[in-house]
Amino acid sequence: MSKSHTITLIQGDGIGPEVTNATRQIIDASGVKINWESCEAGAQVFKKGLSTGVPQETIDSIMRNKIALKGPLETPVGHGEKSANVTLRKMFETYGNIRPVREFPGVETPFSGRKIDLVIVRENVEDLYAGIEHMQTPNVAQCLKLISRPGCEKIIRLAFEFARSEGRKLVHCATKANIMKATEGMMKRTFEEIAKEYPEIEAQHIIVDNCAHQLVKMPEIFDVIVTTNMNGDILSDLGSGLIGGLGFAPGANIGDNFAIFEAVHGSAPKYAGQNKINPTAVLLSGVMMLRYIGEFEAADMIEQALVVTLGIDKTYTRDVHGDAGSVSTTEFTKAIIDNFGRTHPEWTRRAYKPINMPKIKDSQKAIEVKSRSVAGVDLFIEAHNNLEGMGKKLTDLAGSANLKLKMISNRGVKVYPNAHGTEPDLTDCFRCRFISTDANREVTDEDILNLISLVKKDYRWMHIEKLNMFDGVAAYSKAHGED
Ligand code: NAP
Repeated sequence: MSKSHTITLIQGDGIGPEVTNATRQIIDASGVKINWESCEAGAQVFKKGLSTGVPQETIDSIMRNKIALKGPLETPVGHGEKSANVTLRKMFETYGNIRPVREFPGVETPFSGRKIDLVIVRENVEDLYAGIEHMQTPNVAQCLKLISRPGCEKIIRLAFEFARSEGRKLVHCATKANIMKATEGMMKRTFEEIAKEYPEIEAQHIIVDNCAHQLVKMPEIFDVIVTTNMNGDILSDLGSGLIGGLGFAPGANIGDNFAIFEAVHGSAPKYAGQNKINPTAVLLSGVMMLRYIGEFEAADMIEQALVVTLGIDKTYTRDVHGDAGSVSTTEFTKAIIDNFGRTHPEWTRRAYKPINMPKIKDSQKAIEVKSRSVAGVDLFIEAHNNLEGMGKKLTDLAGSANLKLKMISNRGVKVYPNAHGTEPDLTDCFRCRFISTDANREVTDEDILNLISLVKKDYRWMHIEKLNMFDGVAAYSKAHGED
């Protein structure tokens, strides 16, 4: 007799109520005792004027229950409020987003028969999705790509622990470390370091664009892919396309204390209320949830019934072969329940074990440096014309602040002095790099404040970045064309 669980249920927007109701019905029919606590988030909450999209009652419910099953939440695109999905993931520090991609018998795709069975482990709370954006000028927007060493360590350890929990033997780390050496490079370096602690698992780094290429060419070579937030978001939609579409792609957001289970897909508003959407992705997220709470038997029974429905009975919602011959969401739900107890001969169960969640001790001290100094400062200013005049003016002003102008760049390309005769298009946002006049003298805060007080008389400035040296190594990137 299974014990009773209390779980927060967020139906979500668009198709959310249809897919979460189907999942709830199937889980309830399996005999697992769940007390569902229904809560709101997303569009209806935004409409009530709450700009986070997540009311306090919902936060309190997840705080109490530690586990939530969630339908998709709509996010206004390109303007307005923040994503309530991302807010929930960040509030509960569910730093790992686990997204399995497995071929289903009976769901024909160009990749059928390739035995695709991979899992994307996506960092879920950092990177560009930290959502730290500023308009630098009315013409130039900036988004901070924030990657931390503890964040890398947690997600990479989770990927290896997850591989262990499912008996998987290969972990790829997909990054763009060739271009973004500090941020994506940190992920790669951390991966190479931590992989040594898991000698029984093969570890390979792959550049993320090639990863996308190889996923389409040879998806069967992949087992676990660990990657940064945005890379993972894109690769997992690609992965869902390999096995029949977003209707088949489940996910789990997990952290040290909370877990929120949700499909990869969004609220697909054009299908809302039509009773024709595929509930499989949310149902399989529910199956992941059942395994997470230790209900392995029910999870296996539901998964087998689903695979029988697809692979033997050939019962499909419209996303598989179109409208002709397809069944409604409610008919598909009933078909799965009716198939409880049947098994598919080709669907093998993995030897699931609970994930040994990694513990990072004293994460703030993950990397320590012995020496640090400040070699200079990047000052970002707004300017509209006369690059030569600006260069000369800033050179003069720097001299009065014990600094010298090393270069000016625009959109990351050096444009002053001596821009190699090239003529990049200029925006109105310039990065002006100042360094010490004496290589043996550190730049002080007083130098920087003095510089700003001089520059502000002629230019609007937006922000500054110190040019730090950690253990004698430059902790900043050069502009393209800078020597
Ligand atoms: P989407 O809702 O995932 O839908 C994109 C397409 O995927 C649909 O038009 C449909 O394809 C297919 N699809 C999605 N779910 C399906 C299902 N259950 N069964 C069958 N096919 C399914 O993506 P979107 O249109 O870009 O985003 C809509 C809203 O959802 C946005 O507000 C977005 O911010 C939000 N969103 C939320 C989450 C989340 O809650 N975690 C995730 C992603 C997006 P066809 O058109 O080919 O039939």
